[in-house]
Amino acid sequence: SEKITIQNVSRSYESTHALADVSFSVAEGEFCCVVGPSGCGKTTLLRAIAGLDDPDGGSILVGGDPVTGPGLDRGMVFQEYALFPWRTVRGNIRFGLDRPACDCPDCEARVRELIDLVGLDGFEDAYPKELSGGMKQRVGIARALAPDPDILLMDEPFGSVDARTRDRLHAELLDIWTQTGQTVVFVTHDIDEAVTLADRVIVMDADPGTVQSTFSIDLERP
Ligand code: ADP
Ligand code: ADP
Repeated sequence: SEKITIQNVSRSYESTHALADVSFSVAEGEFCCVVGPSGCGKTTLLRAIAGLDDPDGGSILVGGDPVTGPGLDRGMVFQEYALFPWRTVRGNIRFGLDRPACDCPDCEARVRELIDLVGLDGFEDAYPKELSGGMKQRVGIARALAPDPDILLMDEPFGSVDARTRDRLHAELLDIWTQTGQTVVFVTHDIDEAVTLADRVIVMDADPGTVQSTFSIDLERP
């Protein structure tokens, strides 16, 4: 069934058409990559699905309901991590929970579980500036996963880590996705990255931001 339905979405910034009549849908549980050159509107599209931006036209449905703002059903991972520098790893991850100030045993157990899931054991009390890029994005992923969202939105999450770390994070992400069964929309400018990860690839054109083509990939999943 369709989890995300994007219909004729347009978004302009003054004279720039960031998105022009974009339509596609993402099935429940699908790993969908949106690929295209810098400036083709990928971030704008992801922010619209997240409810962080309101397009000028068209509609975005999540589970059949129009998006009217951010929600705990959609977790977002940002290219530049967007971690709170004055919070520890534990504090950043806790911030993703419905009740970020809560230190009840259930919330603490959930944070513990997330730390283990993304391989940050031993770094609970570190601050972001003490971590490598790959480690910072593990925190970003754990924070996005904290409320157990149906949908994971990822904006070039591994664009700032070295190739070796990226390969490892790809494997870890697919492993997590296999466990959670979430619907993933993963944005990248790197077609190789897209075909490595995706069930389905949405290819965008820069001028103006439109969908050029879509194709499916039959991957042998573990
Ligand atoms: P991508 O993520 O594919 O690089 P973006 O969605 O960031 O693309 O940007 C799409 C287009 O909209 C680009 O031409 C960009 O310069 C423009 N744009 C994005 N955000 C803004 C903004 N806040 N103000 C003005 N122009 C913007
Ligand atoms: P990068 O993104 O810089 O390539 P990774 O996230 O792949 O780094 O981390 C590489 C290794 O370095 C990991 O196994 C991790 O245990 C270790 N590491 C990363 N950051 C730190 C840190 N702040 N202190 C100690 N070890 C670290």
